[in-house]
Amino acid sequence: MKEALKSVFVAIPTGLSITFRHIFRKKVTLEYPDVRPEFEARYRGLHYLTRYPDGAERCVCCGLCAAACPADAIYMVPGEKATGERYANIYEINELRCIFCGMCEEACPEEAIFLGREFEFSGADRASFIWTKEMLLANYDNVEKKRTVASYKPLIRSDKFQFKMPAGDLH
Ligand code: SF4
Ligand code: SF4
Repeated sequence: MKEALKSVFVAIPTGLSITFRHIFRKKVTLEYPDVRPEFEARYRGLHYLTRYPDGAERCVCCGLCAAACPADAIYMVPGEKATGERYANIYEINELRCIFCGMCEEACPEEAIFLGREFEFSGADRASFIWTKEMLLANYDNVEKKRTVASYKPLIRSDKFQFKMPAGDLH
């Protein structure tokens, strides 16, 4: 009897007081996917590979991003064009291994690899988390290019030949 009275006159009013205290506060939940979350500027999501304004790929397959990656998540195989330029014949990131630390974008001398804002890339099997070069470029072409142009992470080097060695004898 004593316990029942305690429930009615103490526990229930205490519980209701907590409910009423929170009922007029600002909601912290979102009606996702109708309402999209706003992430902090420093948020690091799905990677993308960038291009020069003429559409050429920036990545020269130097391997620095893979060397810097603490999770061993980046795999690449270089190729060479008829002009002698290097490019990534294969470039893959295993997004399951990735810890989204951002070391790859810090290491890249070509401003070719970045972590973007995309967070919706779930999959039903492991293979669907291997993001190939084509997929990473498409993420730039279709999504991240518009974002980088609009606000943050502007590409510093837009001129493909800015760092070309000067002609003539250097000695
Ligand atoms: S964000 Fe970090 S863990 Fe992920 S691929 Fe880049 S360097 Fe590796
Ligand atoms: S993304 Fe950058 S660091 Fe990685 S291989 Fe390409 S050019 Fe080198």
